[in-house]
Amino acid sequence: MTSIGELKRRTLESLTRPSYALSNQDIVILNNNANLFGMNPAVQEVAETFDFGRLWAYPSENSDTLREHLASQLSVSADEIIIGNGSDELLDIISKGFINPGDVFCQPTPTFRMYRFYAKVNMATIEEKILSEGFSLPVEDILSSNPKLVALCQPNNPTGNLFDRNGIVRILSECEGIVLLDEAYFDFCDSDMLGDVMDCQFGIDVRTFSKAYGLAGLRAGYAVARKEIVDNLRLVRTPFGLNSFTEAVAIAALDHKDWMKANVHEMKRERQRLSEELGSLGFRVYPSECNFILCKSPVGSGDLVRNLIEKGVAIRDFGSYPLLEDHVRVTVGPREYMDMLLEAVAPLINGEFS
Ligand code: PMP
Repeated sequence: MTSIGELKRRTLESLTRPSYALSNQDIVILNNNANLFGMNPAVQEVAETFDFGRLWAYPSENSDTLREHLASQLSVSADEIIIGNGSDELLDIISKGFINPGDVFCQPTPTFRMYRFYAKVNMATIEEKILSEGFSLPVEDILSSNPKLVALCQPNNPTGNLFDRNGIVRILSECEGIVLLDEAYFDFCDSDMLGDVMDCQFGIDVRTFSKAYGLAGLRAGYAVARKEIVDNLRLVRTPFGLNSFTEAVAIAALDHKDWMKANVHEMKRERQRLSEELGSLGFRVYPSECNFILCKSPVGSGDLVRNLIEKGVAIRDFGSYPLLEDHVRVTVGPREYMDMLLEAVAPLINGEFS
């Protein structure tokens, strides 16, 4: 009798799906970089005016109104934009649209783990290039792997730093494959590389409404690239990807950026305070351009994270990643959450593990 194992696509045998789920809902969730600064008022605004009676109808196939809005704000053509159900969907279809079995996928490591995951599902040969000194981009290593697809995260998750812009521009201009530039966290810093991506024939800029806009639960992201690339991505995605309510909220959020800017400002203040407090508890805290900080724990990161969960606070353990022994990543949120974290951490640093 044939087993499921034998029927499965071969590349899935060695894959485990990264999971962000927590069983306990009463926990302070500082492990997935969602925005903890409350509700984006765009949600309320749309909820009050949205025609729920029309939810029987399919949304527009390619989220035309949202694309037009983005196009005018970003000074590109709507044909150069594709909308995704979260940017994760876009990462998936980029691999689907460009990887043949065995093609080389390359990423600097450590970085966001879903790039590699989707490339692997789509049967790529994976090449990971360890970050250089100071978490900088190993440009030569990446170029010399001659990748069909390379994924770069700017600023980088989980290290929190911006890569040198010239290195990215070099990869964009010299790489003969697709260059995916993930700007999920660009709203938190002064970097914007859309112009550089659009100068390049094979670049794709991916962005999300899940972070600074605080809409992770609605699932909306977009990618900007030359029309031929966008057309190829459309080919492999599901039609009607974005639901009509989400599309309306994303548009409203783009029209009223005040809330987003205010919470980014507040986050930066808390990031500074949290960095100093963790530093004084003995953590080595790295500078961050994102809504999270990476730090090296003075005690074993696995023990720290397990004990914090028991105290009702979830942070992420990166201890098993290259370069990141005993490192943890903490999402920065409002002061009350940061205080809860600090209160829970302090006794653990003194070895009071359960
Ligand atoms: N890119 C990066 C770098 C991320 O950290 C995340 C979420 N953690 C995503 C993409 C995916 O975000 P979403 O699917 O919610 O848009």
